[in-house]
Amino acid sequence: IQILLKEPQASGSLSAKNFDVVENAPIPQESDLRDQEILVKVLYLSVDPYMRPRMTCVNQSYVEGFKKGKPINGFGVAEVLASKHPHYQPGDHVTGASIPWTTFSVLNPSNQSLFSKLEGDLAKVPLQWHVGVLSMPSFTGWYGLVKIGQPKPGETLVVSAASGAVGQVVVQLGKAYGLRVVASAGSETKVEYLKKVLKADEVFNYKKVDSISGTLKKLCPKGIDIYFDNVGGEFLDAVLENASLYARIAACGAISQYEKDSQNAYRLKNQYLFFGKRISMKGFLIFDHYKDDYVAFVKDISKRVNDGEFHYKLDVTKGLENGPRAMMKLFEGTNFGKSLIEV
Ligand code: NDP
Repeated sequence: IQILLKEPQASGSLSAKNFDVVENAPIPQESDLRDQEILVKVLYLSVDPYMRPRMTCVNQSYVEGFKKGKPINGFGVAEVLASKHPHYQPGDHVTGASIPWTTFSVLNPSNQSLFSKLEGDLAKVPLQWHVGVLSMPSFTGWYGLVKIGQPKPGETLVVSAASGAVGQVVVQLGKAYGLRVVASAGSETKVEYLKKVLKADEVFNYKKVDSISGTLKKLCPKGIDIYFDNVGGEFLDAVLENASLYARIAACGAISQYEKDSQNAYRLKNQYLFFGKRISMKGFLIFDHYKDDYVAFVKDISKRVNDGEFHYKLDVTKGLENGPRAMMKLFEGTNFGKSLIEV
């Protein structure tokens, strides 16, 4: 099976028409391999919101657009079936950031982004962890809270899209760092999970409240010290209104805006509050931090998982043919936990 980009789309919701699901694609053979290439069977693929801007076909500052008529790609885990590369042997597992959405693939490791063989400690954990608790979004939550949020015990942290791939890490680390954690999500089931399992101090369904700003005011009486922003838009404005002096905002993502065209994009109303409250807002891209910080993240999170205190909810889609639906679910808010495909 191969998932190709059929129809690029800049704004509005994706649908089946954007994708070509090729059921009987020819399977590449070992004899097709050229020097330095490997033949892999793709096992798991990660489904992530940054794939949506790639559906426009336009290169973003941080990532390439997908190419019309070609397989889309993203983070994933694969098994090497045959190799003409000295570093890879059949049976090795590999991970990378541009694994094609195809069941079988011929890859040249030197053309792949963040590509590596799973070895040492990374080969000892369950394979799914590489698209789960050790995945790119989990690392994002860890990095954004620890390095940008600079948490101090007793402070108030607000997290949006809190039950998702990034958010669930931020909520739990927030608690571990002694913060008062106020989380928001878009369904009652997600709210229950955040309260009962992840132990957030206060949780609200942002779709059900009259005013996000009014709700934050009530739930954060001493003001918001750290905001982990996954959604942008109106929520960010509401946070600015309720921010404490010297608040820090980790600008992680703006999923509420990814399907909007420039005419419908949300315009911030409260920018003037930045200087009065000395708020700092720092954008970051996790791709920049693999080299220096991924090892520390893996060590910290693996220990927390092994100690039994850390949860990481997965939303598993079975079958690559169902991949397009998994991508649409992110923007409908119907995924619950880290979205991945068991190919
Ligand atoms: P999630 O697993 O949280 O899935 C997306 C969720 O976003 C949905 O389930 C939904 O949750 C929420 N959502 C969807 N549409 C809207 C909307 N219009 N308004 C508000 N919320 C919405 O995704 P991730 O955890 O993988 O990603 C979270 C954010 O982090 C994204 O913005 C993503 O782009 C960003 N990101 C940034 C990285 C970086 O390097 N800076 C790296 C990885 C991710 P709900 O039901 O709660 O609304």
